[in-house]
Amino acid sequence: MCTIEQLIQGRAQALGYEKCGIIPIREMDDYVEQFEERIRRVPQAKGFYERLRRLTNIRQEFPWAKSIVVVVANYGKYKIPEQLKDRIGRLYLFDPRVDSGSEEFHNSLAMEKYLQELGLKTASNRHYGVVGLRLAAMKAGLGVIRNNNFFYTESGSWVSLEGWAIDREMELIETTSQPACPSGCNRCVTACPSGSLSAPHTMSPNSCVSFLTTFGGRDLPNEPLCKTFGNWIYGCDACQSVCQMNRGKWQETADFPGVADLAPHLTPENIMEMDEAFYKEKVQPKFFYVTEDELWNGR
Ligand code: SF4
Ligand code: SF4
Repeated sequence: MCTIEQLIQGRAQALGYEKCGIIPIREMDDYVEQFEERIRRVPQAKGFYERLRRLTNIRQEFPWAKSIVVVVANYGKYKIPEQLKDRIGRLYLFDPRVDSGSEEFHNSLAMEKYLQELGLKTASNRHYGVVGLRLAAMKAGLGVIRNNNFFYTESGSWVSLEGWAIDREMELIETTSQPACPSGCNRCVTACPSGSLSAPHTMSPNSCVSFLTTFGGRDLPNEPLCKTFGNWIYGCDACQSVCQMNRGKWQETADFPGVADLAPHLTPENIMEMDEAFYKEKVQPKFFYVTEDELWNGR
């Protein structure tokens, strides 16, 4: 007979999630220390981190919560149109959070429904997470957080995380086969075009190309760091693409809904010529960090 933890994990696996683990909520109590440490290391990013402070307050926000269910989905299987390679961050191209036509979006709804069918109260935040998901996933034994700050499983860093707070104490801890970063490896730091990743686990969001071209960037033509953007239009994968732990991990075996059709429109030349109505209908909903009203703030 299966335990409720095994039932939850079995459902996640049946839906195609790569991994699933469950931790008691007290396991997240030291998140606040890590949060403060980040601010200490990069004080200029204090404003950015303060906007995420709610992630340290899960016990206050959901006093009934007892555990966190964390799942990992591998998106490193989608075909990347040639004209978008190293121009649009892969997570944003295959963003499972907003594309209601994607299997990942449906899986997320199905997983939540299943938890509720088991009689559990749930809380989630599909866009931004209910807790620090990388730490929660690491504590659940699903993988490791590497020097570039990304979470890695056996599929590399091309994975997305989702979590639910639930109202029953449970624990299901996996073991990961992932080794630590090789000593002396510095490839991610040296590959960072803007110097944002200045040392292992030390990244300043304010100067990160991914931050500046998505939710953090405003008035980009006048942004002093725009010269460091290179070919990146939205997002940046440089510190992940160079990583030896990602070597051979991306397998282009599946089509993500709508990407092949949209790709020809997303070259720099065609973006400049793009009709505003097309942008609002087809482009902005997918790349939602730049709002409809901020269209003219772009590069
Ligand atoms: S995403 Fe790009 S800019 Fe940001 S830390 Fe990584 S390499 Fe640097
Ligand atoms: S590039 Fe090297 S140091 Fe950076 S995350 Fe990958 S293995 Fe770790």
